[in-house]
Amino acid sequence: MLAVRFYGIRDVRIENVPIPAYGPEEVLIKVKYGGICGSDLHIFKKGMFVGSTPVVMGHEFSGIIEKVGSKVKDLSPGDYVVGDPRVPCNKCKWCQEGLYHLCPELGFIGEVSPGCFAEYLAMDAKKLFKIPSSIDFKVAALVEPLAVALHIVQYAHLSPNEIIGIVGAGPIGLLALLVAQMIAKNITVIDISPFRLSKAKLIGATKVLQEFPLNPSEKVDVVIEVTGSKETLNKSLEWINPGGRLVLGGIYENKVQLDPNNIVFKEIKLTGINAYNTEDIKKAIELISNNYIDVEVIITDILPLSEAVKGFELLTAAVKKSIKILLEV
Ligand SMILES: [Zn+2]
Ligand SMILES: [Zn+2]
Repeated sequence: MLAVRFYGIRDVRIENVPIPAYGPEEVLIKVKYGGICGSDLHIFKKGMFVGSTPVVMGHEFSGIIEKVGSKVKDLSPGDYVVGDPRVPCNKCKWCQEGLYHLCPELGFIGEVSPGCFAEYLAMDAKKLFKIPSSIDFKVAALVEPLAVALHIVQYAHLSPNEIIGIVGAGPIGLLALLVAQMIAKNITVIDISPFRLSKAKLIGATKVLQEFPLNPSEKVDVVIEVTGSKETLNKSLEWINPGGRLVLGGIYENKVQLDPNNIVFKEIKLTGINAYNTEDIKKAIELISNNYIDVEVIITDILPLSEAVKGFELLTAAVKKSIKILLEV
């Protein structure tokens, strides 16, 4: 089968590999779409998160069950599924409580085990969720990033009259905008890409900006920062009103120096977000299945699996004209 394998920094190869074996409690999935995530770009650019190489990349997918292991009861060939791609240690105290997002050893398929940028994927049946056959496979591939956005917005504890700022209009920022709009009315989005800002405006952002505003009257109560950059972290701290909150949902490739007095004097509450919990995945499936939220708007490109590298290059370009890129298998 065709698979996208990571060998090293900016060394990703499209190769023919054997179809994965599946155990008695696993299923073999025929992948329909795989979504390129920000974390795939951290792998591509910096080699972050990966266990041993080469590894089949990708953790966001939708697909159809092809075969089931002998002990699998609740799933059958032909079922439409999405998955929970987290690979926790299953031993630590947080894993014992089902709080896998807090597992210190947490990895993902496509990093520490073979991922979904391939024609077939073998996965533990307990990590799969059936989706209605009425869902478009393209939209279903967005369940996982939507779960991240739900987790971010839940931890941001928004209330209707607060002024919200979202820093970064990539897939997670725009999905967070869609989710936050279900609660808050006044949301400003900041990004350097005019294309991405035009999407934020289309989705319904109150205001879109290429720079952080200098006028004190334009300060916000809550900032959701999803870019993972040093500059935006410090500017976000300055942008927040006294008593405000900062939610960090981006992954930082580098260490960051910040002025803690920006946190102390304004009593800012700081929260980090690591992926999502199982409930967020279920909620994401529910929102998408019932058309409560139009996530399709963030899909800008659909490329064949064989052009995965082009997808990585589009998303790591200085001026981004893409948001969510799906690989069609
Ligand atoms: Zn993802
Ligand atoms: Zn653990």
